[in-house]
Amino acid sequence: RPGTDAEKSVALFAANGMDDGLDPLALEQDLRTAIEAGDQLQLHYQPIVDLVSGRLVGFESLMRWHHPTMGLVSPLRFIPLAEESKLIIPIGLFALDQACQQVNRWRRFLPDAAGMFINVNVSGVQMQEADFVERVAEILAHRQTPADALKLEITESVVLDDVDGMLSILSRLKAMGLRLAIDDFGTGYSSLSYLHQFRFDAVKIDQSFVRAMRQRPENGLIIRMIAELSRGLGCEVIAEGVETANDVIRLAQLGCMYGQGYHFGRPRDPMTIEKLLLPACEETETVV
Ligand code: C2E
Ligand code: MG
Ligand code: MG
Ligand code: MG
Repeated sequence: RPGTDAEKSVALFAANGMDDGLDPLALEQDLRTAIEAGDQLQLHYQPIVDLVSGRLVGFESLMRWHHPTMGLVSPLRFIPLAEESKLIIPIGLFALDQACQQVNRWRRFLPDAAGMFINVNVSGVQMQEADFVERVAEILAHRQTPADALKLEITESVVLDDVDGMLSILSRLKAMGLRLAIDDFGTGYSSLSYLHQFRFDAVKIDQSFVRAMRQRPENGLIIRMIAELSRGLGCEVIAEGVETANDVIRLAQLGCMYGQGYHFGRPRDPMTIEKLLLPACEETETVV
């Protein structure tokens, strides 16, 4: 068993399942406590960039859990746990509320940010709650956030679980003015026709395709095909896992409009983002 906190968090990052020796029930209880305590969960933000102009267009929000003794716990570990225990429902609402406040602030304070958006990951478990759409509407109204400032990221596998139910939820969200992105595209089982049927606004090409392209340029053909079809259906195309300057050039050539990845920046806490983008931000804050 790992000893120090750092070793433990490394172990958590390495773990994919429940075989890491940590008691999932204890972790679930800790997560419950974290939700009540309120200060252990925090959204970090990763830039989404126009691949041709290099312009920052928005951010994806990614949840971070600062566990009091184990340090940072990966979302790959705690999101599945949260889904099983339904704790994803309060966590997901918290994420939406935080993202609304953040995008309000950034649309006001960051340079050239009037049209900026924040992507929020939404779990299928959360979407299947009977009052999901109403709760989202309440949060937007409470924070006075325009619906076009958020984009909901939905993973492909989730969409397929219940096609009719999902269609009705997604069309109600769209009627509110929210935009929808299909996440990790290409890793699930759906056909491209789902893109059209569900009226997604954006397709996020999974980072495994970008990695494959880096290894063998011919693999870029898959990306080109997804990008072309997506665009033909009126969807924006965002490549995930952009790690090198060469990725940027190739992905733009293959028809991807936007990119996200370590090349542009890792997910960071909001204070760090503000320091990077607007050194005078603290001053601005005291004025307002
Ligand atoms: P995702 O939504 O597909 O998010 C992208 C993941 O790729 C993030 O991992 C991000 O840190 C990572 N990433 C970004 N750029 C690169 C890159 O250039 N190279 C590589 N190798 N990785 C990159 P993260 O933050 O660990 O999140 C993992 C997953 O956890 C997310 O995948 C999402 O499915 C889930 N998740 C995170 N936050 C939330 C949340 O607030 N709600 C829900 N329901 N799920 C969340
Ligand atoms: Mg995502
Ligand atoms: Mg993704
Ligand atoms: Mg993913």
